[in-house]
Amino acid sequence: MGINQNLAAGLAGGSGSIKPDHQVIVVGTGFGGLCMAIKLREDGVRDFVLIERGDSVGGTWRDNRYPGAACDVPSHLYSLSFAPKSDWSRIYPTQPELHAYLRSVAERYELLPSIRFNTNFIGADYDEVQQIWSVRIKSALGLQTLTARALVLANGGLAEPKLPEIPGVERFKGKTFHSSAWDHGYDLAGKRVAVIGTGASAIQFVPEIAAKVGHLDVYQRSPNWIIPRPDRPYSDGEKRRFASWPLWRRLYRQMIYWGHEARVFGLVLQPAFMKLFQKIAERHIAKQVKSPTLKAKVTPDYLIGCRRILISNDWYPAIGRSNVELVTTPIREIRENAVVTADGQVREVDCLIFGTGFYATENPIGQVVRGRAGRSLAQEWVNGEEAFLGTLVKNFPNLFMIVGPNTGVGHTSMVYIIESQVALIRRLIGKLLAGGPQSLEIRADVHDEFNRKLQQRLATSTWSTGCNSWYKHKSGKITALWPGFTFDFRRQLQKVGDADCVIVKHRSTV
Ligand code: NAP
Repeated sequence: MGINQNLAAGLAGGSGSIKPDHQVIVVGTGFGGLCMAIKLREDGVRDFVLIERGDSVGGTWRDNRYPGAACDVPSHLYSLSFAPKSDWSRIYPTQPELHAYLRSVAERYELLPSIRFNTNFIGADYDEVQQIWSVRIKSALGLQTLTARALVLANGGLAEPKLPEIPGVERFKGKTFHSSAWDHGYDLAGKRVAVIGTGASAIQFVPEIAAKVGHLDVYQRSPNWIIPRPDRPYSDGEKRRFASWPLWRRLYRQMIYWGHEARVFGLVLQPAFMKLFQKIAERHIAKQVKSPTLKAKVTPDYLIGCRRILISNDWYPAIGRSNVELVTTPIREIRENAVVTADGQVREVDCLIFGTGFYATENPIGQVVRGRAGRSLAQEWVNGEEAFLGTLVKNFPNLFMIVGPNTGVGHTSMVYIIESQVALIRRLIGKLLAGGPQSLEIRADVHDEFNRKLQQRLATSTWSTGCNSWYKHKSGKITALWPGFTFDFRRQLQKVGDADCVIVKHRSTV
């Protein structure tokens, strides 16, 4: 029986069990949630709902609308393989273009009626007797509970902003906001502004605001390696060729994919190779930074690749401006109108912008999703998040994660990872919905053995060569990254079969 026939049989439901409100609930409408919904519908699943806290689709690319927000992966690769776009305006897509792309995908695949916008996911509990998920949501209608056979968490790995825990931060009387919640209504012109953080987000928005503000203090805790950004607009001729010759467009996408994949040799297999790559970043500094003091401040003391490699052409020129100071002395406290550093220097500011990143290794959703015996994901993850291929967690039947633990890739497109996961999830949901109520979960031994080998591999990677990064849980365990080629990740997902899972029929049907 094919997946579609299985689904049709499953949709009829089984005897003696509570009929859930939906077959599937999906949390989030970024790349992951939308891709999941499109593929479920393709398989004949009609009864699903997407829970979205925002007022439009897009996830990361809806929220991160700070000046200069753009993706570090080329547009032709950073898009769904089955929903290509020939007229990307430039090599690296900007946030507005990506958000528009995701909105157009949702419209083209007629997903909007299946989305509950402005609805917060509050938590979910697995009912072991009925083998269904009970999902609590909150919207203008108040608190509600929805039930579903399967729950897909596509809430994003970098969705919950992290604010710095600096003494006195709550006392600050001026304007504050996080990069992912930019206040475009606040006019920065002429203001004294402090930016805390120098990660991927800050290096994009600092150059955009540096010329506008009166004075800018940029607080850097640790420098990052930065390489040039080979960006440019696509010409009309190129866009026409992508549109007229789909084969060429696909080949172009493949070329970008393999070019990026080649970096895995250095990052995972041969960290020593990264030393050669580091030369590119060193030359970039030599070319763009003339002041020896600034050069010393921006040059990292760890091997390139240990933390995410950033790309920018305008970061160094921006922090070299006369109205910008790169402060590397640690922050001691924040006062009502100033930032005070460990050397006692007080710098007055009107506005504090936090470019301080996200809860990447301790996703807050873990605290409110409870599986067997009422144990939460966070309780299972006290020593760091773990899943089987970032998708299935032991003791959490009928739960599927998109962009779960150890699925992050710094070297290529997360959309490739997402599509790979969705291919497995749709296959497993197909099994689950076939033949009446049942539960499906990853075998604990398969789950644990996978994670043991995964950590072994990570231990010899560039990411373990000695640096702090958001890839690591506070225990030191790397929980954010996939240590290998992405085609290998996809291949492993394709190999997941019945023998890896425990499938239990509902009591009343056995
Ligand atoms: P991030 O890379 O985690 O950077 C956070 C920055 O804040 C770091 O410089 C960090 O210093 C600093 N920081 C955090 N807490 C601090 C504190 N208490 N005191 C002082 N400094 C503090 O966050 P992000 O820049 O938002 O980027 C997060 C991720 O989002 C990226 O790595 C990337 O995966 C993704 N992203 C991608 C793009 C893109 O594709 N272009 C753009 C933006 C974001 P330390 O380094 O010392 O911890």
